[in-house]
Amino acid sequence: MTERPVIIPSIDRLLATDTGIALCAEHGHAPVVEALRAAAAAVRGGPMALGREAVMEVLLEQARASLDAAAQPSLRPVFNLSGTVLHTNLGRAPLPRAALEAIQRVAGIANNLEFELASGRRGDRDAHVESALCKLTGAEAATVVNNNAAAVLLVLASLARRREVLVSRGELVEIGGSFRIPEVMTAAGARLREVGTTNRVHLRDYADALGSASALIMKIHPSNYRIEGFTAGVAEPALAALARENDVPFVVDLGSGTFLDFETIGLPHEPTVQETLAHGADLVTFSGDKLLGGPQAGIIAGRADLVRRIKKNPMMRALRVDKLILGALEAVLRLYADPRRAQREIPALRLLSRPRAEMEAAAQRLLPAVAAAVEPLATVEVLDCASQIGSGALPVDLLPSVALALRPQRARGKTLEALAAAFRALPQPVIGRLHQGALWLDLRCLEDEAGFLAQLNQLVLPTA
Ligand SMILES: *Cc1c(COP(=O)(O)O)cnc(C)c1O
Repeated sequence: MTERPVIIPSIDRLLATDTGIALCAEHGHAPVVEALRAAAAAVRGGPMALGREAVMEVLLEQARASLDAAAQPSLRPVFNLSGTVLHTNLGRAPLPRAALEAIQRVAGIANNLEFELASGRRGDRDAHVESALCKLTGAEAATVVNNNAAAVLLVLASLARRREVLVSRGELVEIGGSFRIPEVMTAAGARLREVGTTNRVHLRDYADALGSASALIMKIHPSNYRIEGFTAGVAEPALAALARENDVPFVVDLGSGTFLDFETIGLPHEPTVQETLAHGADLVTFSGDKLLGGPQAGIIAGRADLVRRIKKNPMMRALRVDKLILGALEAVLRLYADPRRAQREIPALRLLSRPRAEMEAAAQRLLPAVAAAVEPLATVEVLDCASQIGSGALPVDLLPSVALALRPQRARGKTLEALAAAFRALPQPVIGRLHQGALWLDLRCLEDEAGFLAQLNQLVLPTA
């Protein structure tokens, strides 16, 4: 056939075909019309050595491809083989089944979010989690906001507006992005009063800084770094006693809060919420989706009079959580009633405490299939690696793990990047880590081996 301008069939004719009808059923009439118009516009005027039927097929196929691509959700599951268990960019803690069920139960239907069933009166949304939080931590009262950054902001704005907050110079942390303690202070309208030096702070430094402008003594858990060497800090009970003598609250921002004694599950010690309160903290703030392994939330727990003041702050309305979060958090808190059950059923705890031998066995099982999928471009080795806990928790402590290291035969940066991109282009993207000329797939967080293997045949290797 000679090349001549394409004859574009009418959109109505395309819609009336079997494919057109099927596409409308799946994607809706208007998007299909739009996709067909775009496909037609792309070929209009250009030469195409095809007959009418073939042109129709081409247009329908193009429309299908663009509709399928547009139907792909933007937010979707990935395999987190990055070696960082609580990876903020990868959604932090995966929720336990009980939390998913709780969300499912209340998300699509009216519920008693702020309604007292016994009295028929308006209720308080914290009621669904407060008693469990108090029981687990020993706090008198608790409230929940959008995240721990919001919790810190709200505590400062409620208790320290236009007044001074004493913080050790060694604790002026920045936690990724824009959460920096000095800036949060400013945003909350509080004045930062730095105490001591970067490496050493003494009780008398706090005592000297206390005055009529003091609103709070605050201790911030240095979640993502550690100061070592010639150091000195003040123990929490001593700070709590000093705060009490001077009639100011003592607030601890734990960052990553936990209720479990981490040493009992083979992990490095992390201060628990209950021990921090027992040390005399008047309030503790911590995240729901770090070591706790629940939904994104910020929890404020401690003295009832202070929690009451905080809940009266108009900012509370802007920072509160919705029914999905409260349902999920309630379910997670319930799991903590039995620590062994919590470790088994809360994915963050299960993955963090996973023994190295399990990753080693997984690596040996997966090695042949992964090697076959990437050859001849790259070789695959089973190598020891170290997982990070992530989210700033226990920054210096690494967890022994095992990875598949995929190394391009010809060590060129571009090939390695392209190999990583090919894994990210899979239906459920695989996120690894580039390190020393290889793509490392840390197997600690791989629980769905079958799902991982099933899509390897769709890997499109770069042409080296
Ligand atoms: C992570 C962290 C925060 C912020 O918590 P988000 O839940 O991420 O908002 C605040 N303070 C400390 C010490 C942290 O580690």
